[in-house]
Amino acid sequence: MDAIPFVDLKTQYARLKADIDARIHKVLDHGQYINGPEVAEFERKCADHVGARHCVGVSSGTDALLIALMARGVGPGDAVFLPGFTYTATAEVVLLIGATPVFVDVDPDTFNLDPADLDRQIAATARAGALKPRMVVVVDLFGLPGAYAAIEAVAGGHGVEVLADAAQSMGGAVGGRRVGTLAPMTATSFFPAKPLGCYGDGGAIFTDDDATAEILRSIRAHGQGRSKYDVARVGVNGRLDTIQAAVLIPKLALLDEERAARERLSRRYDRRLGNHVKVPARPDGCVYAWAQYTIQIDDRDRVQAALKEAGIPTMVYYPRPMHLQSAYLRHGGGEGSLPTSEALCGRVLSLPMHPYMDDETADRICDTLIAALGAA
Ligand SMILES: *Cc1c(COP(=O)(O)O)cnc(C)c1O
Repeated sequence: MDAIPFVDLKTQYARLKADIDARIHKVLDHGQYINGPEVAEFERKCADHVGARHCVGVSSGTDALLIALMARGVGPGDAVFLPGFTYTATAEVVLLIGATPVFVDVDPDTFNLDPADLDRQIAATARAGALKPRMVVVVDLFGLPGAYAAIEAVAGGHGVEVLADAAQSMGGAVGGRRVGTLAPMTATSFFPAKPLGCYGDGGAIFTDDDATAEILRSIRAHGQGRSKYDVARVGVNGRLDTIQAAVLIPKLALLDEERAARERLSRRYDRRLGNHVKVPARPDGCVYAWAQYTIQIDDRDRVQAALKEAGIPTMVYYPRPMHLQSAYLRHGGGEGSLPTSEALCGRVLSLPMHPYMDDETADRICDTLIAALGAA
C-alpha cells in the first residue's frame, strides 16, 4: 500500500502544473523577481476573493503579524493578549517588538480564544496598571474562525483592538463574511501546507482601511516613504516574492473547491469517528477551513504510535502551550494557569487532512484508529 501523506501537495501540483510552470517561467523571463506584476495581480484577486479592500502581500505569516503590530505602534509597555494554545509565531512577534504577551485560555471544544477569560485577563492587566492593554490576537486555530463577535464585544469595551491570526483559516467564514474581513487587520500565511500555500514562505495582511494599507505597504518595504530612498518609518524587508505570487494566483482559484473537498472528508471522519473520539466542534454559522482535523483522546501517545506503526501519519498540534515554553516562561503564570490549554496539549491529535484523499484511505485511517483505541 502507498504511504498515506499527511498533506498531499503533489496531487494539487499535478493538477495545476501547466499553469504554475508557465507563470513561474514568465517571471524568469521578465526578471522582476521583486515587486513584479504578479504581486499586484495576486493582491487584487486575493482581496476580491475575501471581500476586503486591500491585500498586502508579505514574506510570511509571521511577518504579517509583526508588520500589523508595527503598523499600530505596539511596543514596550503594551500588553498583547493571545491564546496559550497556538503556534509560537503568534507569541514571538509580540516579544520582538518589545511588547508583553498576556496568555489567555481557550475553549475546550473550539480550541479558540475564550472570550470570558479574555475579559478577566484584560481587566486584571488594567487593574495591575503596569501595562496598557492594546491588542488581542485572535487565532483561527485549525481553520475554525474565532469567536470574533464575542471577542470584539469584550475587547472594544476596554479599548483593545482585535488582530486576526488567520494563518490556518484561508477559505473560512462566519455568517457569510469571509476570513480576511472579520477584524480591522487580518494576518495570514501562505506556508506550503496551509489551506492556501505557495512554494516557499509567503503571507498577507487584509484590511478595509486605506490609511492602514498604506502604512502596511510602507513597513514591508523598509518603511519607504514617498520615494525609494525616503525612509518614513522603521520597517522590515517583508515583501512577497514575485515567484510566490505567481504560484498563488492559480491556487487561489481552487481554494473554495478544495475547501469543499476538505469539508466532505471532515464529515466522513465525523460519521466514522463521532462515537469513538471527541471530534471537532462546528459552531453555528462558521465555515471551517480545515487546515487540520483534530480529535481529542485519552492515551494519545499510545494511539499515535499505533497509527504510525500502521503507516498512518498524524501530528500533535501542539504538544506544549505557549506559557510553558522556555522562551516565554517569564511572561506566563506557570503550570496550572491556563488549564484548558494545558489539558489540550495532552489530548489533541491531528489526522491526515487534504482535498485529495479518497474514501478508501479515509476509511482505512478510521478503521485503524478505532482498532487502536480498543486495543488499550
Ligand atoms: C503558520 C502559522 C503562523 C506563521 O506563519 P509562517 O508563514 O510560517 O510564518 C502564525 N500563526 C499560526 C497560527 C500559524 O499556524
